[in-house]
Amino acid sequence: MRARVRTRDEVARLMTTQGAPGAPAVQIIPLGGLGEFGMNMLLVACGDTALLVDAGVMFPEPELFGVDLVIPDLSSLEAFRGKIAALLLTHGHEDHIGAVPHVIDKIQGPIYGTRFTLALVQPKLDEHGIDARDRLVPVSAGQRITIGPFEVEFLRVTHSMPDCVALAIHTPAGIIIHTGDFKIDQTPLDGQAFDLHRFAELGANGVLALLSDSTNADRRGFSGSEREVVDAFEEIFSSANGKIVVAAFATSVFRVQLLCDLADQFDRKVAFVGRGMQQTSQIAERLGYLRLAPGIQIRDSDIRDYPASEILCLCTGSQGEPLAALPRIAIDDHKHVKIGPEDVVVFSTRVIPGNEKAIRRVMNHVARRGADVIVDGEKHVHVSGHGSEEELKLLLSLVKPKFFVPIHGEYRQLARHARMASLVCPGTTVIMAEDGDVLQFDETGARVVDRVPAGRILIDGTRTGEIADEVLRDRKHLAADGLVVPVIAINGQTGVLEQPPVLITRGLAIDARHDAVLKDAPGQLTRAIGSTSLEERTDPGLLKERIRAELQGMFRKRAGRRPLVIPVVMQV
Ligand SMILES: [Zn+2]
Ligand SMILES: [Zn+2]
Repeated sequence: MRARVRTRDEVARLMTTQGAPGAPAVQIIPLGGLGEFGMNMLLVACGDTALLVDAGVMFPEPELFGVDLVIPDLSSLEAFRGKIAALLLTHGHEDHIGAVPHVIDKIQGPIYGTRFTLALVQPKLDEHGIDARDRLVPVSAGQRITIGPFEVEFLRVTHSMPDCVALAIHTPAGIIIHTGDFKIDQTPLDGQAFDLHRFAELGANGVLALLSDSTNADRRGFSGSEREVVDAFEEIFSSANGKIVVAAFATSVFRVQLLCDLADQFDRKVAFVGRGMQQTSQIAERLGYLRLAPGIQIRDSDIRDYPASEILCLCTGSQGEPLAALPRIAIDDHKHVKIGPEDVVVFSTRVIPGNEKAIRRVMNHVARRGADVIVDGEKHVHVSGHGSEEELKLLLSLVKPKFFVPIHGEYRQLARHARMASLVCPGTTVIMAEDGDVLQFDETGARVVDRVPAGRILIDGTRTGEIADEVLRDRKHLAADGLVVPVIAINGQTGVLEQPPVLITRGLAIDARHDAVLKDAPGQLTRAIGSTSLEERTDPGLLKERIRAELQGMFRKRAGRRPLVIPVVMQV
């Protein structure tokens, strides 16, 4: 029998009894990360107190020229002004902490996170000139803190970096578990095991709602332990005659640790190459999360003093970012690192969708230098940090929540995860929520009671030194023809415009033809949107493309200009 996901309306009609009679209602409002990968952020509110869980960024899609970062629309936090008592961070990945500098002034109280998470937050605040040292409060797994009507318990989970936690938020309506990112690594490198025991205990006592990571819901089996890459790398280390260059995410501290251990074993020195890799490994080492054999680390500028066969380079640029280390090395444009025919270059990450072309270009350049290129698939040089189907099911079966809300993923992964929940826990009610949904838990059950604005804010100029070539080219073009940002507020269900389109412009020449286009644009865009199908109108990606084409056409035909058009679609 195929289990089925309930629609929002069905959930609303499902009046199950829950919570103590008269207990205040608890609301959950996802603001990012549901229906997309990245920019995870979620609000939990009860009475006069609200908690924000994570504040992440998303890296922009390639077509968002001139945009460095994307963060969730924060306008709905205004309604909670003065009430957000704390920010709770699950772990230190960018998609969970990258927006902290942008939300910190909306939060009254402390920022709670584990030591490692907070150590990664600190440089971001420094970059923004924010002094909030006294507001960063370190917590450990197993600890509990009371914030207004909430008691927050931090639970150890395993992931691709150290010191990650899930949250069990004890509320007047019941316990809400937010997993953060996780996989179930049975042999974690740091010996910090996933606290399955506590999840089971909470489950046995009754959990109101489970919000669980859906990133890998479409992968079968188990994701596997971080240790699984050891065999492949041992092979690489024992056969390589020249330098070994590994591109990995700087935050993948376990991967970095394994590689440094292998380097020690195979008598190679380790050089961290690229700012992100140097900064993160330095923080990890300072706090004891990364342990390097004495004397093993050398500066990248000292690489030339050693034979190639005695070098391991750990570098940034696995996604083909034009100014990061590996892409520079690949085109023989790095000050300290050169590669040649005896060397091996390993891509020890997954390909983030959208970066395929850039990565392929880097591989071709590496091959042109005569070096060997190794990617995941031909050798097992990467393990995902997110749990696959069996891990997700295991957690569901332990927690057996009354309500299940899949989070972190595109709708496809959320739906897959929802189906699993219906199979594993037939008594559980699945709620498919999206960014901006106001989910209410009270004595009558749980349902979506409202929607608040949710969407994206584009941030320019925060990633210094990591600007793509295309972006630079577009900025020249921008300087000549200006920028137009049409802002469209549309109902995500009905596809009806909430208000006429608004156009924000920068750098458009003062010109009667421009004025005429700008005057007519809202009307013409309204008509253009009206002529599309419901499916197109409620798909922000398709809608943006339509709006961009329409506006670019108007400016080209009527004003002879080609301004940069960056549509912003807010589904309300
Ligand atoms: Zn993560
Ligand atoms: Zn994440």
